[in-house]
Amino acid sequence: MHLFEGKKLVGGADLSRIGRLLNLSSIEEKLLEKDEKQTIIDLRAKLDDKTVILADAYLVYHNTARGPAKGGIRLAPNVILEETRDLAERMTWKTALTRIPFGGGKSGISVDLRTTSAFTKKLVIRRFVHEIRLELSSGSYIPAPDLGSGPPEMAAIYGELHMPECVTGKPPRVGGLPGREEATGYGVSIAAIYALEKLRNKDVKETKVAVQGFGNVGSWTCNFLSERGARIVAVADAYGGVTNPDGLNIKELSRHVNENGMVKGFKGRTITNEDLLSLDVDVLIPAAVENVINRETAPRVRAKTIVEGANGPTTAEGDAILRKKGAIIVPDILANSGGVVASYVEWRSGKSGSITPRQEVYDTIRETIADAFDRVVETSERLSLSYRDASMVLAVDEVVKAMHDRGWV
Ligand code: NAD
Repeated sequence: MHLFEGKKLVGGADLSRIGRLLNLSSIEEKLLEKDEKQTIIDLRAKLDDKTVILADAYLVYHNTARGPAKGGIRLAPNVILEETRDLAERMTWKTALTRIPFGGGKSGISVDLRTTSAFTKKLVIRRFVHEIRLELSSGSYIPAPDLGSGPPEMAAIYGELHMPECVTGKPPRVGGLPGREEATGYGVSIAAIYALEKLRNKDVKETKVAVQGFGNVGSWTCNFLSERGARIVAVADAYGGVTNPDGLNIKELSRHVNENGMVKGFKGRTITNEDLLSLDVDVLIPAAVENVINRETAPRVRAKTIVEGANGPTTAEGDAILRKKGAIIVPDILANSGGVVASYVEWRSGKSGSITPRQEVYDTIRETIADAFDRVVETSERLSLSYRDASMVLAVDEVVKAMHDRGWV
């Protein structure tokens, strides 16, 4: 199942409904609905053993009214244009909601990493850089890691262009930023703590949390929340999960996952991903894949606070079911924006040649998310909207105003 299936939705929020709330003209709405640019590339790379790799690759600019197209490179076997464009659109809203001077973009390469060596992966990335070098060297598109790509691939991009500001998510020794790796998880933890303390009037130390996904976002979220005293009672990844009502030791779990490649086998009761979603916890954090909280699973969700670490983990139907049960949902464009906030700091440092300490990165993420959250809560109360719709109203309004400033409408 892909994010784009069904009607046009952005993280469960219907753009035409948001357009009505903001009284948008039909041309404004059309401009937001359509991508500015879609590039489709037939990547070819010949290997030493004469094998020729053919991969479909995509680059999408959704909207650049507020700044250059910012968004990660996804490397996965099922990458398709529609998914890339949906993710590019999410970046438009995420950067607008947090008021970072970037627009929304994304790229994707359809490669099966299970059968691809690190060398081949870099070769494919280099071919991709070659194809989009004008976009990269002009600063129109600024990539970052996404599923399947990480600091080594960003270092390879930097190596091709020699411009520190052309890519973010680089290793710290190659112009990267201390704190970038954990930035998204840190931001998710900040969003969860804000929701608990300000909206639920609950001390984070008295809360039980379940997290789906123990990759970059999930593991760092667990680390930061458990440091703040929350009890992480369940974690699952693609292979299943574990639960312990007394709380999992996250440092030990990280060691276990590093050694074994999966959460399964760690001490605690073995559970499935579906079990995890329906546990009796205060906070549920889906931080793995899209569409996991849907028509089938939402009725069983017992958590009253859901913080979207992943992009698009809740379908529109899932969202409606949760809200009917009185749950608070912190939408992805707010909850997981820490990564792009850190990317902005890295880009700014790269451009100016300055060095940014880790604490400053954390402070920027915390202040940016808290400021956006305050505005979301105010808008939600003023217009009687869910936090998701309020986030979208703020983001769309920001982009529309920028389009006017640019003279596009
Ligand atoms: P990752 O590849 O590091 O980790 C993904 C985790 O999800 C792994 O633990 C994997 O085992 C698990 N997983 C995969 N399929 C699953 C399934 N079907 N059920 C349960 N678990 C499953 O990826 P990541 O960077 O942590 O990204 C996770 C999500 O967060 C994605 O939606 C991504 O788009 C989003 N996101 C990531 C960042 C970032 O900075 N990494 C920023 C914003 C949003």
